Amino acid sequence: MENVIIIGTGCAGYTAAIYTGRANLNPLMLTGTQPGGQLTTTTEVENFPGFPEGIMGPELMMNMQKQAEKFGARIEYANVESVEKRADGSFLVKTSSGEHESHTVIIATGAAPKHLGLPNEKSLIGRGLTSCATCDGAFYRDVPVAVIGGGDSAAEEATFLTRFASTVYLIHRRDELRASKIMADRALANPKIKPVWNSTVTEYLTDAAGEVRAVKLQNLVTGEESELELKCVFVAIGHVPNSAFLGDLVDKDENGYIIQNPGRTSTKTEGLFAAGDVADHYYRQAVTAAGQGCAAALEAERYLADHE
Ligand SMILES: Cc1cc2nc3c(=O)[nH]c(=O)nc-3n(C[C@H](O)[C@H](O)[C@H](O)COP(=O)(O)OP(=O)(O)OC[C@H]3O[C@@H](n4cnc5c(N)ncnc54)[C@H](O)[C@@H]3O)c2cc1C
Repeated sequence: MENVIIIGTGCAGYTAAIYTGRANLNPLMLTGTQPGGQLTTTTEVENFPGFPEGIMGPELMMNMQKQAEKFGARIEYANVESVEKRADGSFLVKTSSGEHESHTVIIATGAAPKHLGLPNEKSLIGRGLTSCATCDGAFYRDVPVAVIGGGDSAAEEATFLTRFASTVYLIHRRDELRASKIMADRALANPKIKPVWNSTVTEYLTDAAGEVRAVKLQNLVTGEESELELKCVFVAIGHVPNSAFLGDLVDKDENGYIIQNPGRTSTKTEGLFAAGDVADHYYRQAVTAAGQGCAAALEAERYLADHE
């Protein structure tokens, strides 16, 4: 019987492991299919405190792994398929390669950004294609960029990017934004934002160095094709929180994000905690995920002490 199983090895999971490890709880971590989490898909991270020169995403995650292992975290490369709460209050965690029992479980499974599904898309992430304006906007000063999407996130990201970019093309499939009126009005009133209505991106075009240099567009009304020169594409068509495997063990919002108890990382199921992007559609940052991982670890520790 484990004290704590941490599902997910992104910023939230590793931080929870460092804290529970230092508390002598000997945590077991289950990695899922993306060991190191989302930051392994990016290049430079400039906004994680403690690295004034910035740090490469994969290196930051390797450091977190080393720090967690130093305090006794054990890492198993397995995908969790289900979690059940048993009558005695413990949890049964079923993975792709077996089963584990634990007194507590910390869910740190993140949220995957949605992409368009174009052939070379995955290989361009971090090379002129991203899903995080807060993270990568500052790298694209005085150059044209595009945001794909029409919801609140797209409108907000486009407005944010006008601080840096020369022009922000807002590419949307329809002829009006889905975003709330206030966000849409603010975005469309900004002289740097140029909407590209009724259009979809059909191809990312790259330069000799393999960086995005343009997108191919198709007008969905006329069928006309065109090219748009730019330096970066911000895909803002939503995220999918990795919470489906939990069934009814947690409450979720309409998009699948786990609902925590107010001001806590605990959930409606005692002994089950959620941390990071899987429970946070609002901040979605490495440092906020790490902060929640810390909070979940402290809550799990207290729960174990109370139920000793
Ligand atoms: C391209 C890109 C660039 C970014 N740049 C920055 C930046 O510069 N600064 C910044 O602060 N933030 C940045 N972010 C956001 C940041 O990466 C996330 O906020 C952060 O990674 C969230 O951490 P997390 O631990 O909640 O989840 P994640 O990093 O998403 O990790 C989730 C973990 O859960 C695992 N998992 C999922 N499902 C299962 C399952 N069923 N069983 C077991 N394990 C599972 C995954 O394998 C993974 O290990 C960026 C994101 C992207 C995509």
